[in-house]
Amino acid sequence: QKLTKDEVRTMVKDENIRFLRVMFTDLLGTIKSVDLPVSQLDKLMDNKIMFDGSSIDGFVRIEESDMYLYPDMSTWLVFPWGAEHGKVARVICSVHMTDGTPFEGDPRNNLKRVLQDMQKMGFKDFNIGPEPEFFLFKTDADGNTTTNVNDKENYFDMEPADVGEDCRRDIVLALEKMGFDVEAAHHEVAPGQHEVDFKYADALEAADNIQTFKLIVKTIAKKYGLHATFMPKPLSGINGSGMHLNMSLFDKDGHNAFYDENDEKQLSQTAYHFLGGLMKHARSYTAICNPIVNSYKRLVPGYEAPVYVAWSTSNRSPLIRIPSDRGMGTRLELRSADPSANPYLAIAAVLEAGLDGLRNQLPPIHEVDENIYKMTSAERDKKDIRNLPDTLHNALKSLAEDDVINGSMGAHIYHSFMEAKTREYDAYRQHVSDWERQRYMDQY
Ligand code: MG
Ligand code: MG
Repeated sequence: QKLTKDEVRTMVKDENIRFLRVMFTDLLGTIKSVDLPVSQLDKLMDNKIMFDGSSIDGFVRIEESDMYLYPDMSTWLVFPWGAEHGKVARVICSVHMTDGTPFEGDPRNNLKRVLQDMQKMGFKDFNIGPEPEFFLFKTDADGNTTTNVNDKENYFDMEPADVGEDCRRDIVLALEKMGFDVEAAHHEVAPGQHEVDFKYADALEAADNIQTFKLIVKTIAKKYGLHATFMPKPLSGINGSGMHLNMSLFDKDGHNAFYDENDEKQLSQTAYHFLGGLMKHARSYTAICNPIVNSYKRLVPGYEAPVYVAWSTSNRSPLIRIPSDRGMGTRLELRSADPSANPYLAIAAVLEAGLDGLRNQLPPIHEVDENIYKMTSAERDKKDIRNLPDTLHNALKSLAEDDVINGSMGAHIYHSFMEAKTREYDAYRQHVSDWERQRYMDQY
């Protein structure tokens, strides 16, 4: 709900709020924030907070660097910590140009643009239920992150007096205090790996929630002497961390547009076309949903992460799973996305893929109920099942060839993204790693 300016002023006084943290997200998905003393509240609410856009990744050049932060007061909330020095309230902002127009290089503005296109097609909300996974690692005496996890637990395991357990419980409490509706929190398959699922929300709010979530997880972990990482594959040989995206379209009457009780699978034509778009554009939105070099070390066989472009209502190995819930809970679960993705860009990309499926009435090819991992590559070829890209390089190539998906970013973001990611891949390609020395130094 949107608070009026007076309500905000009253709240700031009543709750002894001393600082305002204004947040936005850069191209790479990093949360940027500026702390303002509470004396700046009126200036903030009048959209008068200026910053230097040229120092933010993927924003603008020096010559045009003055930008403004417009707070979205519906995101106003008070952090559940730091009460000794007065509380801190945060608000998420959109970035605007000096003439007041929304800056097209701001990923949040860009998502709003794609959502407007969706609304023109007659839908009200694109709902996203994210399932972010993360690792908790121990830190050493100097506070540096180690690769030691703090438990030997497994999926749904629980052990008394486990620090990771306590930390996760604290995370859930903090989230609830901040108004999150936590649906589940559990230990994941790998040691030290956790997942917290919160209730679905409309795309913009869901993306905001993901960013806030990461901040909270990292903050609380630190209190326990742990480091929380959303890196997709921190350790070789064990599961990586995904961020499954459960998605559904709601129409203007608040009905789930993916549900049709008369269909054999109780899925609507809208769901099938949307799925068709997700299938068609899978390789190119992978560049956005799995945007770092390390993302591709997760998308390999054997660790519950998808490798092939296929969907299924019955098994978990494909790119898209359709969970058994129907009615309001009817949804498609994209299993490839990982938590290194910029959530604003990732959600815009998958929405654009689905909308393209609707505009062009694409068929939902490739339902595969057998285990694809047990098929030979000849069997996969026969069924025309493609692979997801195996490197960031190949993903970027697919993205460059797909105007629908690179269009989901808008020209400004697409250009900056390509430039940054090409540089990132080149740096990786030129680096000589320990693996190479161990493998080749003696042999050659
Ligand atoms: Mg999971
Ligand atoms: Mg899942």
